[in-house]
Amino acid sequence: MQTFGELIGHREAVRLILENTAPLPVRSVMLNEAQGLALAGDLRAKFDSPPFDNSAVDGYALRSSDAEAGRLFKVVDEAPAGRPAKKSVGEGEAIKVFTGGVIPEGADAVAMVENTSGWGEEFELKKTVSAGENVRQSGEDVRAGDVILRSGTEIGAAEIALAASQGYGELPVYGRPKVVVLSTGTELVEPGTRELAPGEIYDSNSYAMVAQAQEAGTEARRLYAASDDAEVLRPAVVEALESADVVVTSGGVSMGEKDLVKSTMLDIGVEQIFWGVKFKPGKPLFFGRRGDVSVFGVPGNPVSAMVCFELFVRPALMKMMGREDRRRPCIQAYFEERITNRLGRMHAMRVRLERTEKGWRAEPAGAQGSGLVSSLSRADALALIGPESEVAPGEMVETIVLRDEKLTGQSC
Ligand code: AMP
Ligand code: MG
Repeated sequence: MQTFGELIGHREAVRLILENTAPLPVRSVMLNEAQGLALAGDLRAKFDSPPFDNSAVDGYALRSSDAEAGRLFKVVDEAPAGRPAKKSVGEGEAIKVFTGGVIPEGADAVAMVENTSGWGEEFELKKTVSAGENVRQSGEDVRAGDVILRSGTEIGAAEIALAASQGYGELPVYGRPKVVVLSTGTELVEPGTRELAPGEIYDSNSYAMVAQAQEAGTEARRLYAASDDAEVLRPAVVEALESADVVVTSGGVSMGEKDLVKSTMLDIGVEQIFWGVKFKPGKPLFFGRRGDVSVFGVPGNPVSAMVCFELFVRPALMKMMGREDRRRPCIQAYFEERITNRLGRMHAMRVRLERTEKGWRAEPAGAQGSGLVSSLSRADALALIGPESEVAPGEMVETIVLRDEKLTGQSC
């Protein structure tokens, strides 16, 4: 029978995973495809933006030197957005201009139409206008040659807007990992297909981990739940390996007779980097590589699967996307009661967080059994309780926050 070798610590496991993971090759993608990816290289402004002086309002472009309240102006031309005026503005003259329209030659200010007698061939100015009023200066937003986005920046809506405003139709980014998730277990039934027979359960892990992989910004899909039969498992894993950057299997990775994931992996040429971590929930975690593909075998208990994904798979995905900086926020939190861990393994405890005058207070989010998914849905964070340790009331503990909104407070 196979046995675990010496279990490694959870930090060592993360270190080995990151050491064996590289950012995906840089490629150029269309603007909206870049969303959620990291920019690979500084992006510079190609020209001053805005590229020309233009009006911030609808009104009349005129010369501030003769723009005193009470004066009459003759309208000589118009300059809607996209169509510069043909004429220039002389003394006592004005050109109708609309928001975004080019400020005509000779004008240095715009009177809002609300501050005049209204639209027409001529008008009376009701309010004195000073030089530069209602004019958006060329280059006031961005100067040609400025770095507008730094390498590594995560592309979101504002970054897409900025790049588009500079005429970039594509952006160089680190690739989006393709993740294939595969559940193992003869007991598993596809949710939504039929009622359970005795001994069966619904496959929740592959759906949960696809969601986690998508939340991390990757392209994820699930393969059908494979049975514990090596003949079924093997071709499924081979198919996964051929179409993915990262393969994640759930279940079958422990030491039971039916636990065939690890041996199947080794059979098909996956090189084992480690198997077994001093960590709860997720002791039998397997990590290996075949070529450029990373392979994670997470245990089948739903909480183990999701917590292992969170703490071991997600950091690798972030590194592949050039976003190693974007790990989950880590805060210090205290418990009101004494917490004991006699497991000899790091315990990632599901906790709820509450802000108090003493800082963040953590409280176990219910029982900590590895199959209790409901407690994960109640948890805000994972408090890391060291092996063989006792945490005194009020003592601070490193805590990984799963729900960002908890830190940012109420929504408005
Ligand atoms: P295993 O790691 O295969 O020994 O599975 C451990 C426990 O998790 C067993 O109770 C399984 O029935 C359960 N389990 C395994 N895979 C899944 C899955 N995909 N969804 C829900 N529960 C699972
Ligand atoms: Mg199983």
